[in-house]
Amino acid sequence: MEKLLLVKYAEIHLKGLNRPFFERRLVAALRRAAGSDACRVTLRGSRCYLTGYDPADEDSLIEAVRHVFGVHSVCPAVSCDRDMETITRTALGALSALPPGGASFKVQVRRADKRYPIRSMDMARDLGARVLERFPELRVDLTRPDILLTVEVRDEAAYVYTREIPGWGGMPVGTAGSAALLLSGGIDSPVAGWMMMKRGLRLIAVHFFSFPYTGELARRKVLDLAASLARWSGSIPVHVVPFTAIQEKLYEEAPEELLTLLMRRAMMRIAGEIAAREGCGALITGESLGQVASQTLEALRATGDGLALPVLRPLIGFDKEEIVERARTLGTYDISVRPYEDCCTVFTPRHPATRPRLEAVRAAEAAIDLEELIRAAIDGTVVEIAGAGK
Ligand code: ATP
Ligand code: MG
Repeated sequence: MEKLLLVKYAEIHLKGLNRPFFERRLVAALRRAAGSDACRVTLRGSRCYLTGYDPADEDSLIEAVRHVFGVHSVCPAVSCDRDMETITRTALGALSALPPGGASFKVQVRRADKRYPIRSMDMARDLGARVLERFPELRVDLTRPDILLTVEVRDEAAYVYTREIPGWGGMPVGTAGSAALLLSGGIDSPVAGWMMMKRGLRLIAVHFFSFPYTGELARRKVLDLAASLARWSGSIPVHVVPFTAIQEKLYEEAPEELLTLLMRRAMMRIAGEIAAREGCGALITGESLGQVASQTLEALRATGDGLALPVLRPLIGFDKEEIVERARTLGTYDISVRPYEDCCTVFTPRHPATRPRLEAVRAAEAAIDLEELIRAAIDGTVVEIAGAGK
């Protein structure tokens, strides 16, 4: 008998030739998440197993493992020999280890090894009878049981568990490449980054910092947001770009109604250069259609104009309420709503253009000499590492 974590992964992604690639990356991500040489990670028959850890660390290990994208769920389990007597003893032991309170139960048996002589239904019925004998206060409920006792009979052993903790699904981080998230400190961009990370992208973050209009607390907030996202990926490098000089120049020289758009274009251009240099394949923003003047269709066209990399906007069809709900679930919301001076409030025009013409935006930009300032901003960028390394 051995305590272990049985990890189920979403098989939907596993069809076809990519399966070994996906599985290797998942195992590597689990190893990084487990973060301990004392723990072994093995893959066998569509399951990953974590063994050999200190039982005192089990809760923190479960927490780390369930944040690995690609994990469907984590089951703290016990492995045992495959004879019926041992399985029964192990199952009764697992039930007696549960905290009191469950009133009903169901036994579920999976026989991955179809040559195993006892059919799943028969084993479930037998086990159920033995459970009732030993715990007469319990009753059987096949539709909504308080306790689901599961036995998986596999080639090498049987696995018994009563708890299945959901993971977040998705694809292992890095399987889709990497991308640069424009991370503002607002509610939206962390959620956008999380959604793309879930689809297998490894993130770097780029933050535009307008000292002294925004101060140390604003910078801290962005690093905390990145650290919060890092629970799913391991540490995230945050490129902090000094943006003040560019903003001031635009404030002085740009037509007021195009100010936000021109700032946005400068951000995208700088982020694009950093992204390319870091080997990223895309930019990610928290934009959502129609949310503000700079996120109309015309404005998005002007913002994304002239970039070499695609811009991913996973929140494009989300209502603000949906984004807020997701941010709360992820735990980024409380960080995002910390009060601080948003650099953009200082530089927000009273009447921003909602339907800017691309030619007018290009012409306004061409009339302002930003080249040197953009180079200086890129050269002055400081990289900070947010979150624990994995
Ligand atoms: P958020 O809640 O993410 O700040 P928002 O609704 O406030 O989004 P905007 O301020 O219009 O929207 O910004 C749109 C997007 O531009 C953001 O989601 C983010 O990706 C990017 N962005 C804006 N400001 C910054 C900044 N200071 N640093 C990095 N990215 C930024
Ligand atoms: Mg914002």
